[in-house]
Amino acid sequence: MLYGKHDHETEEYLTPIFGNPAEQHDLPKYRLAQHALAPREADRLVRDELLDEGNSRLNLATFCQTYMEPEAVELMKDTLAKNAIDKSEYPRTAEIENRCVNIIANLWHAPENEKFTGTSTIGSSEACMLGGMAMKFAWRKRATKAGLDLNAQRPNLVISAGYQVCWEKFCVYWDIDMHVVPMDEHHMSLDVDHVLDYVDDYTIGIIGILGITYTGQYDNLEKLDTVVTKYNQHHSKLPVYIHVDAASGGFYTPFVEPQLAWDFRLKNVISINASGHKYGLVYPGVGWVIWRDQRFLPKELVFKVSYLGGELPTMAINFSHSAAQLIGQYYNFVRFGMDGYKEIQTKTHNVAHYLATALKQLGEFTLINDGHQLPLICYQLTPRDDREWTLYDLSDRLLMSGWQVPSYPLPANLDKQVIQRIVVRADFGMNMAHDFMDDLTTAVNDLNHAHIVYHADESPKKYGFTH
Ligand SMILES: *Cc1c(COP(=O)(O)O)cnc(C)c1O
Repeated sequence: MLYGKHDHETEEYLTPIFGNPAEQHDLPKYRLAQHALAPREADRLVRDELLDEGNSRLNLATFCQTYMEPEAVELMKDTLAKNAIDKSEYPRTAEIENRCVNIIANLWHAPENEKFTGTSTIGSSEACMLGGMAMKFAWRKRATKAGLDLNAQRPNLVISAGYQVCWEKFCVYWDIDMHVVPMDEHHMSLDVDHVLDYVDDYTIGIIGILGITYTGQYDNLEKLDTVVTKYNQHHSKLPVYIHVDAASGGFYTPFVEPQLAWDFRLKNVISINASGHKYGLVYPGVGWVIWRDQRFLPKELVFKVSYLGGELPTMAINFSHSAAQLIGQYYNFVRFGMDGYKEIQTKTHNVAHYLATALKQLGEFTLINDGHQLPLICYQLTPRDDREWTLYDLSDRLLMSGWQVPSYPLPANLDKQVIQRIVVRADFGMNMAHDFMDDLTTAVNDLNHAHIVYHADESPKKYGFTH
């Protein structure tokens, strides 16, 4: 959020807080107060401000982690002060990041005969930015060598309409045209048969998405790789490569569908990002980006920081930030191992399957995604003339029992369709899922027997849900 000037400073004071007379302060909200408060008072005030912020465990809207084990939380609390960029002061933390990169590269099948490289980030948005920058710089080198007129047109990036907003940011910040491959009812992910229509000599790369944020659908990366291989046979000077945005699938698919080839097993996939704070099971914000070989990461983008009298290469947009999250990631790797992650993600998968089946049985909904890949259920109302309520009404109704379930229109071309999305996370167990279905069934029955007062404006309310 970008915040701006608040005009009502003089009238707005927080009312005195309860209890101790020492707490009777008039505290300005939008200016720094003159006087200090006691820690206990400050703590009470801030906690009270946050009191009605919704229960994150009941938030079925987000992919972001809402639970970590108490041991992980303690460990992260104790390591909050560590600065991830200060490799000299915290060489052990640097080594932990190094181990995580190796663990992840291994999980994504980085080939033995190439030299992978990678880094932690604040999340997938930063990771996508780094992956995109590497593609742009590498393309420029190839294009210069091939004698292409770099000023004739802007470079472009090819991606399906189901992209997450970070790619739009990347294109705006870096002056890149977005070549958007449309989605429609028959193509709910990247249209691989037509993707090459959007590729030309100025294409820095193609983005494949392992888990479209809005619907959970996977792009067909195996087929995309085949199409790109054919294209590159005829374009050896200016080949095009694939970056996989696996923000949500990167830590899920390897455990639930290990046979699915979406990663470095595919020859043209040169880089991959994922969010540690989605199915990596860490609190926000940690993300990862890995290149299959150092040659795909142009040297100009790598900066050195000092490290125990020497230097260590880094690639990042941010500089100082706490290392607690990446230590949390390492804790999860150590704690769960392959089996643990598999067990957790499989349980999540089963809950998604249960919800999809139960929702279908209610007879009101048509499923768009039934959670057979990412554990995400996405559905619209089955048309019925005598129904007076909309999915927005159902969202409101569910909120009365604390559940946050967003309704929103699909991306461009499909934006007449309003859907509802439930993201199943590890902390949404089968018991909670049963409770949720009870509340949802009650809500649907109530709505079916209610007289709904329509708002005059029936246009879809909100564009997308992006995390
Ligand atoms: C969530 C998401 C992102 C952004 O990830 P952050 O970790 O929140 O920065 C990017 N791409 C996709 C496909 C996502 O689902």
